[in-house]
Amino acid sequence: MLVKVSRKTNATLRLVSALVFLGLTGILAHKLEPSVPIVEAALAVDKANTTQLPSYFPNTEELKPDEMRITALGTGLPTPITRAQKSTAWMVELGNGDVFIFDIGTGSMENLFGLRPDFSKLDKIFLSHLHSDHFGDLDAFIIGSWLSGRYTPLNIYGGSGEIPELGTKAAVEALVKALAWDIKGRTGILPDAGGKVVPHEFDYKNENQVVYEKNGVTIKSWPAIHSLDGSVSYRLEWNGLSFVFGGDTRPNKWFIEYAKDADFVIHECFPTPEGLAAFNDWDSMKNATFVSSYIHTPPEGFGKVMSAVKPRMAVAFHTVLLPDIQQGMLEGIRKTYDGPLTIANDLMVWNVTKDTITMREAVFPDRVTPPATTEAYQKAPRSGLAKMSKYIMDGVWKGFTPPPLPKE
Ligand SMILES: [Zn+2]
Ligand SMILES: [Zn+2]
Repeated sequence: MLVKVSRKTNATLRLVSALVFLGLTGILAHKLEPSVPIVEAALAVDKANTTQLPSYFPNTEELKPDEMRITALGTGLPTPITRAQKSTAWMVELGNGDVFIFDIGTGSMENLFGLRPDFSKLDKIFLSHLHSDHFGDLDAFIIGSWLSGRYTPLNIYGGSGEIPELGTKAAVEALVKALAWDIKGRTGILPDAGGKVVPHEFDYKNENQVVYEKNGVTIKSWPAIHSLDGSVSYRLEWNGLSFVFGGDTRPNKWFIEYAKDADFVIHECFPTPEGLAAFNDWDSMKNATFVSSYIHTPPEGFGKVMSAVKPRMAVAFHTVLLPDIQQGMLEGIRKTYDGPLTIANDLMVWNVTKDTITMREAVFPDRVTPPATTEAYQKAPRSGLAKMSKYIMDGVWKGFTPPPLPKE
């Protein structure tokens, strides 16, 4: 067994415990030789969720002009959604002040609120596909971000479907329609423009086509193979750094070509067929194998993809936080990939520059207040308070008199 660590970033104790762990679990020998300094990452992963990462305290440090910060807001499946693991969502912050959200799966808003971000900057969401574990908290985002500092329209980017009814535009418009009562009731108390949601649907058959370009940031998309036509992957380029977010997919030729040599590459890694059948209590190995390996990517497939793409950091998500399943994932990946790797958990945070990638875990209390809003949010146009019918207002009880409304 050989574990070679090229950086002196870990205390002896950590190395010893990693070796003990690797020995106990019989993980295949592999080399860790990152081409650039990588703090903690590789060993943390190979200890399969047993390492305590250094803490990142949100809003206590500025991003440097050449730095990218990536936060896992959710890394799990549609079920179960737990306190420890929400469905898929990722936040990418850039040194130029831009912030991008990739997917906004169910439960992920809880982690986003915990970070207390500046919501005035959070007006762009890129959806990989329309499974609820990838956009199930969009309603919570529309309303929550509007209440907490967003005063401009929310832009949602995503692929078309095989027919218009299955595309991003139809889904977003239907959701906004479902929220009609909510949005109308808040418009005027909150900034009018913040209640608007703008879908930007592009052809899911785009092959590495630009779907966003602004402020030195370019985002391209390409198709993924998952469930129905319409799932896509993204590559963000900025300031010589590249971030790839793979939508749910089985290994596909486009990803191998267009994610190649990116700095930070996220790709799904599903439980093995056996792991999935046991986890979901499914009798049918046919169904488990189809889901795990024909519309998703099992661990050995993930490893093969990353061996071809060769990122500075490979990140696996869409996992289950159970030790035996994670162990199976790790062993499967290490059969086919020996490069820098993270099996992501919620609230892991990576800082990426041209020279370094560091990994920490965001820490915040269970109870937080909404973040401070900006002056621009306070001054953004509001059309006035909503009115209710005479019928309802005649129901006001004379036994309580509210304070007079201040003149503004
Ligand atoms: Zn999916
Ligand atoms: Zn999914």
